[in-house]
Amino acid sequence: MKKNIIYKGFGTKCIHDYENTLVNPPHILPIYPSSSFTFEHLEDCISVFQSEKSGHVYSRYGNPTVEAVANKIASLEQTDPTKEIWGFMTSSGMSAIFVLLQSLLKPGDAILSPYQLYGGSTELFTKTFHRQQIDLYLTDFTDLNQIEEQVRSNNIKVIYFETPTNPTLFCFDIAEIVKIAHQYDVKVVVDNTFSTPYLQTPFQFGVDYIIHSSTKYLNGHGNSISGIILGREGDADKAIIVQNLKLIGAICSPFEAWLIYNGLKTLELRVQRQCDNAMTIANHFLNHPKINTVFYPGLPSHSTHHIAIKQMSRGFGGMLSFSLKTDSLSKVAHFIDSLVLATQAPTLGDVDTLVLHPDTSSHLRVTPEQKQKEKVDQNLVRFSIGIETCEDLIVDIEQALLNV
Ligand SMILES: *Cc1c(COP(=O)(O)O)cnc(C)c1O
Repeated sequence: MKKNIIYKGFGTKCIHDYENTLVNPPHILPIYPSSSFTFEHLEDCISVFQSEKSGHVYSRYGNPTVEAVANKIASLEQTDPTKEIWGFMTSSGMSAIFVLLQSLLKPGDAILSPYQLYGGSTELFTKTFHRQQIDLYLTDFTDLNQIEEQVRSNNIKVIYFETPTNPTLFCFDIAEIVKIAHQYDVKVVVDNTFSTPYLQTPFQFGVDYIIHSSTKYLNGHGNSISGIILGREGDADKAIIVQNLKLIGAICSPFEAWLIYNGLKTLELRVQRQCDNAMTIANHFLNHPKINTVFYPGLPSHSTHHIAIKQMSRGFGGMLSFSLKTDSLSKVAHFIDSLVLATQAPTLGDVDTLVLHPDTSSHLRVTPEQKQKEKVDQNLVRFSIGIETCEDLIVDIEQALLNV
């Protein structure tokens, strides 16, 4: 409102303006739930729109709360102070994957991934991307020769993978995969959701992009859905990725971003405790008579432990799976149902311990062939270990195992 005109109408007073009483900055990042940002003069508006001046215009193009959180996550993934990392938050982990790959690929191009892939990513590639004539090839990522063979014989433009994988925690050698990819001008994208930058920083091993479902460990409290796309400054494709994100509008809301901001403060404490708890539990149940296999990358018995030690710097994460020794789904169900501390919920990375039966939930739509490669079957139970007192978790799992 122009300051020199006094409006007296009740309705006008109700609707217009607020008095900005802020003098000194708040301690905590404010939430800016404003769809647009105002200008005093048209001249300012023009120069911001033309990117001559920095400023905010419209929250789909950029919001101060969301940008602050994106920049913080980018700084966590940055290991080399001379190599800037940028980040843009998205409405979910899935939209981060969609917007990024949509920007890098065109009809006729293909994605190469391991057999072990988050169920949603498999479906996105085989359904949504398939309809756009973008194909998915799957291969064994523990065999570098097979990766090279696939890259050489198909029109692979992006190598996309997670490490460790869901739910059997296979680890893949990021540095070696990047070496092969870059020989053939193929971009490498890592989904770093399971590790978080506290445990693993893929840019250090040369990847081109990282995505996260920040719904999981980065939030840590299970109270929001969001994702992030991260890349290197100077990347020629950054402009198209940002353009697509703004035009598609798959952006993170300021409130969801703010919840991540709160979660990030304790990321180190939470993940370190989850690693410690998971390692203790993995070792405790390693030779239990009711358990066939404990899948945990921190165990020397895990088939890809040697890769985990190479690239996971501070621990092996809070995810672990048990293959129970039984032929009966009802016994598996009984085990899960009788857990007291571990809650059945199809998510991960929260402060409390969660349990899931992948075969009938996250992997319901995964082909039998792929499930076999992933070692997912009826007997597999996945845990996302929380920050509870470890002895209590052990007692809980022990009593539930009596039902197997
Ligand atoms: C949950 C998850 C996703 C998808 O993220 P949303 O936030 O649910 O969209 C992608 N990758 C991994 C490894 C996940 O765990």
